Amino acid sequence: MSQIIDGKMVAETMKIAIGEEVKQMVAAGQKAPHLVAILVGNNGASETYVANKVKSCEELGFASTLLRFDPTISESDLLAEVQKVNDNPDMDGLIVQLPLPAHINPDKVMETIHPSKDVDGFHPINIGRMAKGLPAYISATPQGVLDLLAYYKIETTGKHCVVVGRSQIVGLPMSILMQRNHPVGNCTVTLTHSRTLNLEEICSQGDIVIAALGIPEFIKASHIKPGAVVIDVGLTRVEDATKKSGFALKGDVDFDDVAPKCSYITPVPKGVGPMTIVSLMKNTLLAAKGVIYPKN
Ligand code: NAP
Repeated sequence: MSQIIDGKMVAETMKIAIGEEVKQMVAAGQKAPHLVAILVGNNGASETYVANKVKSCEELGFASTLLRFDPTISESDLLAEVQKVNDNPDMDGLIVQLPLPAHINPDKVMETIHPSKDVDGFHPINIGRMAKGLPAYISATPQGVLDLLAYYKIETTGKHCVVVGRSQIVGLPMSILMQRNHPVGNCTVTLTHSRTLNLEEICSQGDIVIAALGIPEFIKASHIKPGAVVIDVGLTRVEDATKKSGFALKGDVDFDDVAPKCSYITPVPKGVGPMTIVSLMKNTLLAAKGVIYPKN
């Protein structure tokens, strides 16, 4: 049976360390890190995600500001609001919760956030710097996966890592990070997607399989080589009449089928999910300290 990677425990451990550092900063007379979240409209899932981020700020002693805008806000007005945050020296990090209404181009919004405040790591400058191996904000979910691999001291050097999914926020950065010349890296990476032929055969050659495709329980034991490490990024709500809420959260990996065959596996929930917010907090702390980009 495989070892379960306990993302909740690792996230709690990291949160305690971040909270301690913030306490010391404040005790030394510095200001607390300040995260700003922009929420446009009232999409239910986005409301929950942003509320969780604000709650984490409170828990860790960060300042936070939630800027809410009507879904009818024009693109140019939203860009002007982003610029105001860029220009405010008290605000260290800015996230704009996606998705945005259809009349607003998310790429334009991301490119308007100053790279030094782009704690989601979505700005092309941060993605480019990451690809070049330069200091950069790394997007939260891939960073969370790296931190889990590091915490469990899982050897990555020389391993074949198969990433399933090539999205801008998970699969693509994950593939770049896993091939970097870095202690958690140095893999030979295969990046797969919906047009990949022989996906099962390719996955079953992976020493590390990272699933981020958004199809519940898609990855079965037949996709997995005995002893492989399986990281499940997927998170989909599926109807479940046995739950009080009426739904259950499912990963992209069929846990019961795969777990007996692999060496390590992340569960859903309590695997990669809890790490994502911690990574965002970590980036905001780096922003407040001017580690990646010097403060003016
Ligand atoms: P996305 O933007 O929809 O991208 C999905 C990717 O999977 C695409 O590259 C797509 O290929 C590929 N794909 C779709 N069907 C496939 C198939 N049958 N075989 C192989 N590849 C296939 O999704 P995302 O934003 O990356 O998210 C992926 C999952 O992770 C979702 O369940 C999401 O909820 C979850 N997620 C979790 C967290 C967390 O904190 N735990 C954070 C972010 C995302 P094409 O490019 O060819 O279309």
